[in-house]
Amino acid sequence: MFNKILIANRGEIALRILRCCRELGIKTVAVHSSADRDLKHVKLADESVCIGPPPASASYLNMAAIISAAEITQADAIHPGYGFLSENADFAESVEKSGFVFIGPRSETIRLMGGKTSAKAEMLAAGVPCVPGSEGVLPDDETRCREIARRIGYPVLIKAAAGGGGRGMHVVHREEDLVTAIGLARTEAQAAFKDGSVFLEKYLETPRHIEIQVLADEHGNAVYLGERDCSMQRRNQKVVEEAPAPGISAAQRAEIGRLCTEACKRIGYRGAGTMEFLYDRGQFYFIEMNTRIQVEHPVTEMITGLDLIRAQIMVAAGEPLPYRQEDIVLRGHAIECRINAEDPYKFVPSPGVVTKWHAPGGPGIRMDSHVYAGYRVPPYYDSMIGKLIAWGLTRESAIARMRTALSETIVEGIKTNIPLQSRILADEGFCRGTHHIHYLGERLAEWS
Ligand code: ADP
Repeated sequence: MFNKILIANRGEIALRILRCCRELGIKTVAVHSSADRDLKHVKLADESVCIGPPPASASYLNMAAIISAAEITQADAIHPGYGFLSENADFAESVEKSGFVFIGPRSETIRLMGGKTSAKAEMLAAGVPCVPGSEGVLPDDETRCREIARRIGYPVLIKAAAGGGGRGMHVVHREEDLVTAIGLARTEAQAAFKDGSVFLEKYLETPRHIEIQVLADEHGNAVYLGERDCSMQRRNQKVVEEAPAPGISAAQRAEIGRLCTEACKRIGYRGAGTMEFLYDRGQFYFIEMNTRIQVEHPVTEMITGLDLIRAQIMVAAGEPLPYRQEDIVLRGHAIECRINAEDPYKFVPSPGVVTKWHAPGGPGIRMDSHVYAGYRVPPYYDSMIGKLIAWGLTRESAIARMRTALSETIVEGIKTNIPLQSRILADEGFCRGTHHIHYLGERLAEWS
């Protein structure tokens, strides 16, 4: 087992990883920007290293600084968390080449599954259903592009092959708009991802977002831990997540789960991963794989009783998975609300000092947050300041507990999206579980 792990992240996930390391008796190194000296995990870590000024590009994305910090502190492994460098194959490769363990899949796997078209090709080869679309990236020839779009059928969605974070996507409803939109998407993709290649997918009008959590070790074992429904989204960003997904039968879960573990074995996957699907009229369509831990992993932990960060660390250390598929039992229902420092309806970030902080409690309630009274939310990073998770034996009970927990939470000094989360938890469509990925956008037009 590792003696010391460097945590290459910040905020709640850095604290989550630190807590897990402490439980396992592993020493920790926190790396942070000069704006983040007061982060809770920086105070709790065995050692900390300032790796640069506030902008993420100069600190949390500074590969050389992070690897130097690992060398100086003699860490054995680096946990990248989510976001920042967690899906950067070049970073994973530098970590490996510098003699450290990257807590995640091998860099080749990240590269393979990080490209949306290569990931789709792998999944198709493993028998996993994908959204109908172009075979690979679009050619330069305009006539060919029109033919491909016509074959798929309008509306179509243009996506950047190297895309991420919901950026660079364009819906096209009519053939006459296709070529212009492709040109625009290529320029955007080139600017954002230094790769102008784009591809086409059928645009699904009202799908749900359902994803499968997988875990695999380097000894050829892979399991799935059920699914999460992340359909409550604003501008392709998840707002509320839950597990299991309402209305998915045990047989459907077993079928899609089995296909996902087959795909893991095919690509020699190692670690925790998520296969994301759109779910429309009873069918799953793969869209992309996240080769890292996800923000919403706690809902899966709550219904399986497993610790996914611990599993990531064990597997990265070369241990076999301690459970087989038949050991994974889902119990009850869990919901997660992302708590953001922002105006609840205008979505303008609201950094500043948190003057009062009261986390909720009671049965089935979990708050993953690095915030404390007196903490200053810096303006430089993502606005998420915590995740509130509620578990109950049934979906109704999880909803009731979440409502109570939201009403108990006190955050003063900054604005948060708690009023919006309370509104969602009281919404009829959410309570029935009939919402889709555009549902919140439609409601917001009425609410704000
Ligand atoms: P990114 O990596 O940029 O987040 P994804 O492929 O994961 O891109 O898609 C992000 C979101 O965009 C999905 O969660 C979904 O809401 C929407 N989306 C993606 N593909 C489609 C599609 N073919 N039809 C409709 N919506 C889509």
